[in-house]
Amino acid sequence: MPMLRIKGLTHYFGGLKAVDDFNLDLGKDEIVGLIGPNGAGKSTVFNLACGLYRPSEGELSFEGTNLIGKFPHQITSLGIGRTFQNIRLWNELSVLDNLRIAHFSQIKYGILDAFFFSSRLRADESKLIEEARQLLEQFNLTNFENELPRNLPYGLQRRVEICRALVMKPRLLLLDEPAAGMNPGEISELMDLVRWVRETFKVTVWIIEHQMRVIMGICDRIKVIDFGRTIAEGTPVEIRNNPKVIEAYLGEEVVV
Ligand code: ADP
Ligand code: MG
Repeated sequence: MPMLRIKGLTHYFGGLKAVDDFNLDLGKDEIVGLIGPNGAGKSTVFNLACGLYRPSEGELSFEGTNLIGKFPHQITSLGIGRTFQNIRLWNELSVLDNLRIAHFSQIKYGILDAFFFSSRLRADESKLIEEARQLLEQFNLTNFENELPRNLPYGLQRRVEICRALVMKPRLLLLDEPAAGMNPGEISELMDLVRWVRETFKVTVWIIEHQMRVIMGICDRIKVIDFGRTIAEGTPVEIRNNPKVIEAYLGEEVVV
């Protein structure tokens, strides 16, 4: 059984068919790319998979559990983590608090515990902080735990966002254009980081990216969409030489 199974996924925004009959099976430990020109429907596919939108049609399951109708926090709890095309960190909170807050849907204590500030709550809290600190250390972010994200260089903000996506111990990680806005040095670091994350946290990675160097360099296979429809699937070498893909990207500024 594939980890993530998507069948016939279709989504309309009013009269616009943003995603049209999208199919994909994701296996364990793969790094799979989703590419296509601007407006192709890539982020919408992620938003459907994470429960931000409910698909107009189609099937969506994760490790055998139907995801249709589930709320985003439920999908996170099932084991799917993600980052956003535009970084979504809480800029008024420190880096450490950004990680702590990501835990909220996992906390086991109830309102009465919180009211009486029970020992269970305190035990949970200190465990969360300890786990968050450990994760920050693995990501070489310990020195920045008290910083506000907006004061960090862009590459580091991305690193914090990926780190935060791992707080809930996902088995599938979705990255939406993680290299957007990065300089060549940051892009190389990001590629190493994604490979390292896959190895260290044993996650399957599904990545949307416009930077071809990233896609060609780290993906086991790639799916290409244009106007919501799949136009090609294959290995990086197959995709690089596919005339339909080259045509779809004509007029776009693609960094190879
Ligand atoms: P990509 O990520 O491939 O650039 P998107 O998934 O963001 O593309 O968008 C696909 C299409 O759907 C675009 O035409 C976009 O304008 C439209 N779209 C995306 N989100 C919305 C929305 N919330 N409401 C209406 N139209 C949307
Ligand atoms: Mg997008």
